[in-house]
Amino acid sequence: MGAEHTGRQQSYRLFIGGEWVEPSKGGYAVVNPATEQVVAEAPEAGVDQIVDAVGAARAAFGPWSRRSPAERGELLMKLADAFERRIPELAPLVQAETGATMRVAQTLQVMQCAVRFRRYAQLANEDHDIALPPSVMPNTALAKGGLIGALAARQPVGVVACITPYNFPLTNMAGKVAPALAMGNTVVVKPAPQDPLAVLAFAEAVEEAGLPPGVFNVVTGSGAEAGQALVEADIDMVSFTGSTPVGQRIAETAGRGMKRLLLELGGKGAGIVFDDADVTAAVAGIGSTWSFHSGQICTAPTRVIAHRAVHDQLVEQLAAYARYLKVGDPLADDTIVGPVISQLQRDRVEALLDSGRQDGAEFVVGGQRPEMERGYYVAPTLLTGVRNEWRVAQEEFFGPVVVVETFDDEDEAVALANGTPFGLYDYVWTGDGVRGYRVARQLRSGNVGINTVQRNHEAPFGGFKLSGVGRDGGVFGLHAYSELQSIVWPS
Ligand code: NAD
Repeated sequence: MGAEHTGRQQSYRLFIGGEWVEPSKGGYAVVNPATEQVVAEAPEAGVDQIVDAVGAARAAFGPWSRRSPAERGELLMKLADAFERRIPELAPLVQAETGATMRVAQTLQVMQCAVRFRRYAQLANEDHDIALPPSVMPNTALAKGGLIGALAARQPVGVVACITPYNFPLTNMAGKVAPALAMGNTVVVKPAPQDPLAVLAFAEAVEEAGLPPGVFNVVTGSGAEAGQALVEADIDMVSFTGSTPVGQRIAETAGRGMKRLLLELGGKGAGIVFDDADVTAAVAGIGSTWSFHSGQICTAPTRVIAHRAVHDQLVEQLAAYARYLKVGDPLADDTIVGPVISQLQRDRVEALLDSGRQDGAEFVVGGQRPEMERGYYVAPTLLTGVRNEWRVAQEEFFGPVVVVETFDDEDEAVALANGTPFGLYDYVWTGDGVRGYRVARQLRSGNVGINTVQRNHEAPFGGFKLSGVGRDGGVFGLHAYSELQSIVWPS
């Protein structure tokens, strides 16, 4: 099973103020989820080191924010180049620490990281201020009237804490760091404990590209402490992607200091399949919950809401799809479903499946742990006869599990789709474009895909309800790291 990665073998250190720093609390093991072998030791930062990193980012903020956007864009482009040169060593490393299949590792884990840096390097060069038409103001006791001009200028927020989840460590980091730096902020990155190694190694590219010391810092730790200390430190904004309960805790802490928030949280994506849908297309989209990164993606259409007329056909085809997928060594060419990130995550998925069993769901496919010598595997699992109030319909699996509910009319489908505390990404499959649009507009969800699970990276991305606050994506992601400043003058 899964040969050890062939990438770098070295000790990892924190990156603070442009220096490589030994962690004051030693190290902890990062485990390959497929082999259960240690990939390497990651640094365990002390709280004082997290405070140091924030201090370095604070000191770097003034000069960095005053550089021209073109200069910042040029440095980000150099960073993308330096990162791309490292892909041959970073792809195996990120594969080993995440357990991603090679296809996912090479595309979404690394290439998408470079794409994000290049895109925000470009966007840095565009003008994001908003010129407003002059406004005629009357004479008042406050000031003389006349034509008053105004500009809505975008200013950087300051020091941004970038706290990321384990599913796509480099890509999630890039989605925060690239726009934050492009806008003139400085950052302290805190990757997930399970797989921080490639993000630590990424700092070598930052060094090579010549970013000024303190503009980009990385701290790591095995538990919640590092992230907590970072949120409490002297930062101006938290950009967090992760689970809703942790996001809520962060918002409470950040609220005391009025720190700005971008929160990309959990999801329980509904996939409504109408009776006029192309069922094969719907199956391919829904099946991505199994076939893409073992369902460890917040946007997965994991909760199918099927019209009664197509339910049986849909379930039959989904079952055939799930049975066809090879589960196993992520390094093998024909593997589609690799492990989930950790024993703890597999335990969570299995416990939630047990609740479905007790509630009376029918397990059409999966439900048993795959027979493997090693690794944290969950078989692609399909549950039918699910009721919306059950835990399996309300809580995130973040694993390769699809549940199916049934509806009879459009209003019921919309009510079921909206009937969870989440609102991140929903899907509609229908042959009627008018209906697709009508339903999309009724979904309380930040993103809706009509007949596709494909993305448009220029579109705003984020959640309604407990799925988050604020928007990533394209220019919206850039603006998220800015404060609007009004500048007015008499004409
Ligand atoms: P998590 O919430 O457990 O951890 C995310 C990060 O927060 C990690 O770096 C962790 O160390 C840190 N953290 C933990 N406790 C903290 C605290 N008290 N203060 C500050 N930081 C703290 O999430 P996870 O298990 O790594 O990732 C899975 C979750 O992420 C799922 O809920 C998934 O839906 C969500 N997710 C959302 C999106 C999105 O864009 N909306 C994308 C990917 C993942």
